[in-house]
Parts: sequence; C-alpha cells; structure tokens
Amino acid sequence: TEDVEKIKPEFVRSFQFENKLMPSTWIVIRIDGCHFHRFSEVHEFEKPNDKQALNLMNSCAVAVLEEIQDIIFTYGVSDEYSFVLKKDSQFYQRRASEIVSVTVSFFSSMYVMKWKEFFPQKELKYPPSFDGRVVCYPSSKILLDYLAWRQVDCHINNQYNTCFWMLVKKKGKSKSEAQHYLKGTQAQEKNELLIKEFGIDYNELEIMFRQGSLAFWQKEDKNMPHESKGSVQNSHKKVIVEHCDIIKPNFWEAHPSILD
Ligand code: ATP
Ligand code: ATP
Ligand code: MG
Ligand code: MG
Ligand code: MG
Ligand code: MG
Repeated sequence: TEDVEKIKPEFVRSFQFENKLMPSTWIVIRIDGCHFHRFSEVHEFEKPNDKQALNLMNSCAVAVLEEIQDIIFTYGVSDEYSFVLKKDSQFYQRRASEIVSVTVSFFSSMYVMKWKEFFPQKELKYPPSFDGRVVCYPSSKILLDYLAWRQVDCHINNQYNTCFWMLVKKKGKSKSEAQHYLKGTQAQEKNELLIKEFGIDYNELEIMFRQGSLAFWQKEDKNMPHESKGSVQNSHKKVIVEHCDIIKPNFWEAHPSILD
C-alpha cells in the first residue's frame, strides 16, 4: 500500500500526447482489410469481384453510419471504406486515436456478426482485421478530390483485375504470365483486350464493380396518413446505398444537403 500511495496520477497522465484533429475540417477515416488478398483466397471469394463480399462490406458501412451519427457520407471499394465526418463534429472531442479505433473496431465486429447472413454456406475461418487512418481536409473541394481519387483507384484496379482474371480463367495463363501480359498496357488497350478476346464491354460490367459503393443519410419527408388529422409530416432519415459517379459534379449538385 505504501508503493501505491507514491503513484502520482498527474505525472503518469503527463506522458499522454494531444491528438486532437484540426477544428472545422472534414475528417475522413479510411479503413482497409488486413491481408485481404489472403483472406479472399482462404474464403474462396469469386474473382475478380465477389458480390456478396462487397454487399457485406456495404452492410457494415451502413451499420457504422447508423452508429456514429456525425458520419455524413461513406465510399467503399474492395476491402476498404472511407467515412466522412461532418466538419464541425465534436465526436470524441476530435481525438484522432479514439475516432479511428472506435470506427475500426465497430466495423470489424459488424463484419464478423454479419458474416453468416451474407455467406450462409461458408465458415469464417479466422478473425478478419482492418487497419484505419484519419486525415483532415480543409475544404469541400479537397474532400471531393479525395473521394474522386478513391473512385479512380476503384476503376483502375477493377479494369486491371478483370483483364487479369479473364486471362487466368479463360485463357489458361498462369498468374505471372497474366501479370507480364498486362504490364504497361493503357486503359484503352485493356478495354480492347476485353472486347476482342472475351466479348466483354467494360462499361456493361456491374456498376458496383466499376464505381464502388456510397452510402449517406437521406431525408424522407413523407405525408403519413393520420386518423384524426388527415395527414402529418413525418420527417424520417434513412441510409441509402448507391453506385454512381462521384467524380463529376452531378451527384453533389443533386445532393447539396450532404456537405451542407
Ligand atoms: P494490406 O493488408 O496491405 O491491405 P491486402 O492483401 O488487403 O493487403 P489490398 O491492396 O487492400 O491488399 O487489396 C485487397 C485484396 O483483397 C484485393 O487485391 C483482392 O484480392 C481482395 N478482395 C477484396 N475484396 C474482394 C472481393 N469483393 N472479391 C474478390 N477479392 C477481393
Ligand atoms: P466509455 O464508453 O466512456 O468507456 P463505459 O460504460 O465503457 O463508457 P468505463 O469507465 O469504461 O465506462 O467502465 C466500464 C464499465 O463496464 C464498468 O463501469 C462496468 O459497469 C462495466 N464492466 C466492464 N467489465 C465488467 C465486468 N467484468 N463485470 C461487470 N461489469 C463490467
Ligand atoms: Mg492496408
Ligand atoms: Mg487490404
Ligand atoms: Mg484495399
Ligand atoms: Mg469503456
């Protein structure tokens, strides 16, 4: 007990460092599956795109939006998801490590909880993990540049992966042969390869594979029928998932309230 009394809490606490994110900036948390190249092989994901695996990611992202009210928008592709917090959010007093860790752990728990719903026939062989990082963007212009960057990445990877897996599955090439074959090819050449060799029009592939997924809160002002009052305004919020172009300004012009 004498030793315990010697502990000075203020002294111990003084080693903690401030990790508050800049005020009045868009906070973006990006999570990414750890070693999902392996995870997707062990769990026999369909290549290049396992639709159910993407649906599971989307469902977990919706759960995160519903859990953390300050998240206003989210965009995901493959094993990653970006979550955007509103500019003036005071979530965990904007402390970076708390914000990242709570988002990542909630997402990971959801992924495990929902696994059976999306893969009723597949056993989860080992616990998946995700890493997370956080970045602040000082203007909505730069925030939209960030999101455009992720969607461009989705497109480039999907185009490459579609060619790669076609060469492997339909032309019997080994993985290293397919890799060598595609080295240095331009986007146009890849599209031509898909058309000429496999009769695939890239632009007709599933939109979720080409453009990724986004989810956000949508206000629904429904006029609910009411017994005595005729009808009442029922303002109802709902998370919706879409697959569309977020690089062009059209989406943002159609949904001005997201970044409001
Ligand atoms: P790291 O731990 O560095 O993130 P990683 O193996 O997860 O390594 P990523 O660059 O994140 O590498 O790529 C994720 C990989 O997971 C993809 O290359 C792909 O093989 C696989 N993957 C993720 N989602 C799917 C899916 N829906 N369908 C098929 N494969 C997928
Ligand atoms: P916060 O999100 O701020 O951490 P909290 O509810 O988790 O809120 P803590 O200060 O972390 O608050 O305290 C954890 C609480 O969880 C305890 O007060 C106790 O009520 C409960 N708890 C944790 N572990 C046990 C346990 N093994 N048995 C009974 N209760 C527990
Ligand atoms: Mg990573
Ligand atoms: Mg990964
Ligand atoms: Mg990834
Ligand atoms: Mg606690």
